[in-house]
Amino acid sequence: MPELPEVETYKRYLDTTSLRQKITGVEVRDAYVLQNISGRQLARRLKGHRFESSCRHGKHLFVRAGDELWLRLHFGMTGSLEYLNHDKLVPKTARVIFLFANNRRLAFDDQRKFGEIELVKNPDKFLQQRGLGPDALKINFSQFKAIIGNHQGAVKALLLNQQLIAGIGNLYADEILFRVRIHPAIDAAGLDDKDLTRLFRVMRYVLEKAIALKTDFNRLPKSWLLTHRGKRGKCPRCGRALISATIGGRTSWFCANCQKRI
Ligand SMILES: [Zn+2]
Repeated sequence: MPELPEVETYKRYLDTTSLRQKITGVEVRDAYVLQNISGRQLARRLKGHRFESSCRHGKHLFVRAGDELWLRLHFGMTGSLEYLNHDKLVPKTARVIFLFANNRRLAFDDQRKFGEIELVKNPDKFLQQRGLGPDALKINFSQFKAIIGNHQGAVKALLLNQQLIAGIGNLYADEILFRVRIHPAIDAAGLDDKDLTRLFRVMRYVLEKAIALKTDFNRLPKSWLLTHRGKRGKCPRCGRALISATIGGRTSWFCANCQKRI
């Protein structure tokens, strides 16, 4: 599922491929991903405009196409972007395709169709209405401490709560907690300043490193949990079998030896 690092990678991809070209049309192959707008309206509103710039907040990507005209993309479970040359076939699971004057196309591919596309007037207003917390990479330590330190509940559930901090999902939450050696079910209220400092630093490190590697899991360091996560996976630190448990409504993978529940 695309989390902050994946969405940031799509943002950079879109910025390098699709900005400043005249949009000549929008082909909606499956309107299921559209929110509050029909395929025809989406095409009509965007036609003749250009994508000018983009910004990301948490797992949402906003692309400016004019005054009070922003395309919002959320990648759901399986969403991705693909910029296509005129001779390249559009993926079978492409749901919406933006057509440009230079005959190139930008496809929003989404096999499972949990993604979302809509037009919004103002990204900040949208974020406010959704009640989203600040972006995980745009907060400083004192903000982080105020958020996590002032809430009760399993630390993993807090990291996943988009209303508190936006951007972290199931996989990176597990990675962050593994690297700080904190059990995912530990009550955040029991973490001291030292724990919170490490948690904050590691959160930044994991997200930034994943972005730097363009979230290519084959290039992630072998010391990361992400490359071992799953059945029959072994802890890259101590070699014991990883275990799973449902925490915060999601399946967590961790090492019971390295991440003790004190
Ligand atoms: Zn271990």
